[in-house]
Amino acid sequence: TYVVTENCIACKYTDCVEVCPVDCFYEGENFLVIHPDECIDCGVCEPECPADAIRPDTEPEMEKWVEFNRKYSELW
Ligand code: SF4
Repeated sequence: TYVVTENCIACKYTDCVEVCPVDCFYEGENFLVIHPDECIDCGVCEPECPADAIRPDTEPEMEKWVEFNRKYSELW
């Protein structure tokens, strides 16, 4: 799955949301998250993010961001 990380905070772009084929982005006041169970791992959103905030969860130390994305995508 892909996850949104800290560079997203207060980012004003939503290019990623527009390209996601399964609409799995959820939008808070100043942050987006990806629902980890809905993401199909297509990778289309990653290069669209001007803030370089979207990372694959296979990178090191992504566990906290996976939890963060899960928590808020279920709240919002
Ligand atoms: Fe959506 Fe694909 Fe990005 Fe997952 S990797 S959030 S399915 S665009």
